[in-house]
Amino acid sequence: MIRINENFLKLQSSYLFVEIANRVSAYQKVHPDTEIIRLGIGDVTLPLPPACVRAFKKGVEEMASASTFRGYGPEQGYGFLREKIASNDYRSLGADIDPDEIFISDGAKCDTGNIQELFATDIRLAIPDPVYPVYLDTNVMAGRTGNFSNGRYNNINYMDSIPQNNFIPSLPETPVDLIYLCFPNNPTGATISRDLLKKWVDFARYQKSLILYDAAYEAFIRDPDLPRSIYEIEGAREVAIEFRSFSKTAGFTGTRCAYTVVPKTCIAYDGKGQRHKLHGLWNRRQSTKFNGVSYPVQRAAEAVYSDEGKTQVIETANYYLKNAALIREEITSLGFELVGGENSPYIWVNCKRDAWGFFDLLLEKAGVVTTPGPGFGRCGEGFIRISAFNSYKNVERAMARIKDALN
Ligand code: PLP
Repeated sequence: MIRINENFLKLQSSYLFVEIANRVSAYQKVHPDTEIIRLGIGDVTLPLPPACVRAFKKGVEEMASASTFRGYGPEQGYGFLREKIASNDYRSLGADIDPDEIFISDGAKCDTGNIQELFATDIRLAIPDPVYPVYLDTNVMAGRTGNFSNGRYNNINYMDSIPQNNFIPSLPETPVDLIYLCFPNNPTGATISRDLLKKWVDFARYQKSLILYDAAYEAFIRDPDLPRSIYEIEGAREVAIEFRSFSKTAGFTGTRCAYTVVPKTCIAYDGKGQRHKLHGLWNRRQSTKFNGVSYPVQRAAEAVYSDEGKTQVIETANYYLKNAALIREEITSLGFELVGGENSPYIWVNCKRDAWGFFDLLLEKAGVVTTPGPGFGRCGEGFIRISAFNSYKNVERAMARIKDALN
């Protein structure tokens, strides 16, 4: 008899987005003529930068001719892209990362999910609340958690990100083995200073634990005092794996290209306390289960690092940051407290009431869709996330409608 992995039964259904879709469609039935403005999901709206489109097309052309055709590529990604990433995204920051420590993939979502295959089932996890749900659900699937009760899975060290700690989790008070951090954060938009990040790195070194650092929104950092990479912090090469993505950096959400950095000095231990290099394990995992990202896509990603590409991706992120600044200004002027929207495309608003109630109010009175905070964890109660991924014109219209609705 074929049996299932019963850990899947512990998973909570993705209630949030189904529920949002239901409420939006119910609203639309009653108000068929109102154009809904979506500031809910975290998907980009601007097209690929022209430099990427050109390189993408050229890559496809090469596939069309026998002399330039490419079959299976290296599972870890082509050298041309890994080298550009190492020099532009790391060495330029003074972070000592080699091209062969960079693994190209088809998404930070897959990588943040897949990486936990490298670790024992009975490790102690520290996961922020609120959180990008992938970190949590993939560990549930792997059997690292207990059942769900009272809004949380048993056997997880939840790290509250709340106004009292400026939405940056405090160091756990009990020992933990695997720590998830994400800055600039989804969903809160909070950022972390170098000093605070250093505390985490020191903590991980002291504890012999590992940090999984998700920097998918790094491209939105404008403040030079904020770290763009965890490897800017001394000692991080021994205790941190970093995830990055071209999704938000260059509009690749539908094109798919990302990368994970596993330094060769990054160590984990077996049951006897023997040291093992995670680089070798991840390389083994990827070459066994993954056949690489398509050649034209990697060429398109490489174009992000051309002079033209660099200018274009900065312009794209600036466009969304301008939207974010407008949202911050308008929502603050209505008397709400918020975080994010500076160095981040997300704004986390304290709605001073039930999050779903506020979501409904904005939908019904303003025709604007946001994301209720509880979908990201128990600490999201009383908050909504507003995303800056839309046109400036739509953001202006959405803010005007919200003002009317609340005044
Ligand atoms: N990490 C975070 C924090 C995200 O918010 C997202 C996407 O929304 C991802 C990773 C996924 O990125 P990708 O499109 O590369 O899979």
